[in-house]
Amino acid sequence: MKILVTGGAGFIGSHVAEAAVEAGHEVLIVDDLSTGRTENLPARVDFHPLDIRNREALRELALHFRPDAISHHAAQASVTMSVRDPILDADVNVMGSLNVANVAIESGSRLIFASTGGALYGEVPEGKSAGEDWPARPLSPYACSKASFELYLRAFGQASDLRYTVLRYANVYGPRQDPHGEAGVVSIFLQRLLRGEPIQVNARIKEGDGGCVRDYVYVRDAVRANLAAFEGALDGCTINVGTGQPTSTRALAETLVDFVDRPAIVNDGPHRSGDLERSVLDPTVMVSILGEPTPLARGLTATTEWFRDRVAST
Ligand code: NAD
Repeated sequence: MKILVTGGAGFIGSHVAEAAVEAGHEVLIVDDLSTGRTENLPARVDFHPLDIRNREALRELALHFRPDAISHHAAQASVTMSVRDPILDADVNVMGSLNVANVAIESGSRLIFASTGGALYGEVPEGKSAGEDWPARPLSPYACSKASFELYLRAFGQASDLRYTVLRYANVYGPRQDPHGEAGVVSIFLQRLLRGEPIQVNARIKEGDGGCVRDYVYVRDAVRANLAAFEGALDGCTINVGTGQPTSTRALAETLVDFVDRPAIVNDGPHRSGDLERSVLDPTVMVSILGEPTPLARGLTATTEWFRDRVAST
C-alpha cells in the first residue's frame, strides 16, 4: 500500500512511518519540522518538508502520490502553546487538518486521525475510565481543535465516501519522544535521571500529593492501531488507545528511578495551571480488536534503554 504520514518526522508519526515501511508499504512523509527532526525520519521513506496549511502544495503532492491511507499526525501538539496561541492551534489543527481531509476525499484514501483521549474527555472522576461514548469536555484550545476536527470527519463521513478512523491516544511514551518540550513526562524524567539531574513531581492539587494521574500507553500500541486502520479493520471507528491503568506522576517517577538505577533527587513542585488532575481511558474496544496493550513496565524498560544509549552518546 501507499501510506502518507503527516507529522512523520515527529515522535509518534516517525514510529508509524517506520512500521509501515517494515510492513512493506511505500511511505511518503510530510512534515514542516516545526517540532519534528530529520534524524527521526526512517530509512526508505520519501520526505517532503511541507506545512499542511499549504493547501495547494499538499494537494498537488498527495494527488501525485495517490495514497491508499493517510495517517494524520501533523499538529500543533502542545496544550500550553494552544493556551498561549489558540489561533495558531486552530490554524494548524483545524484548517491544516481540513486540507488533509480534502485530499483524502479527493484521492479516495482512508484517513486515520491522531486525536486525543488524554485531553478530550476533560477530568475523569476517581475510579472511572473514559469510554468512547463519553461526551467531549474540552478544557483547552488544543482539545477543542481536536474535538472539532473529529466533528468535521463525522460530517464528511456522512456526506462523502470518506473512510476514516479516529484514534484517541492517551499519554503516549516511548523512544524518540522529545524531552525538550513540555509534553512527555517520561522522556523528560528519563533524560534528567540519566544525566543525574533532579526531577520534579508537580502536584495534582497541593504540593506533595503524588501528582496528576495519567494513562501511559506505549508508542508501539499507537503504531499497531495505525497498521490495523491501514488495512480497513477500523473503518468508521473512534477508539481509545490507552491502557486503562491509572498512574500518578510520583509512581511513574519512582518506577523510572528504579529502572535507571542511579542516585536521584525527586522534588515536589506546585500544581501547573491548566493540567488535568486525572485522565484515564477505557481501552475495552481497542483490546477487543488489537489485543492487550503493552504492560507499563515493559514499555518503560524499552524506553529507558533507548534513552540510556542516547544520553551515553551525547
Ligand atoms: P510531535 O510534535 O513529535 O509530532 C508532530 C509533528 O507534526 C512534528 O514532526 C511537527 O514538525 C509536525 N507539524 C506540526 N505542525 C505542522 C504543520 N503545520 N505542517 C506539517 N507538519 C507539522 O508530537 P507527537 O507527540 O508525535 O504527536 C503526534 C500526533 O499525535 C499529534 O497530532 C498529537 O496531537 C497527537 N497526540 C499525541 C499524544 C501524545 O501523548 N504524544 C496524545 C494524543 C494525541
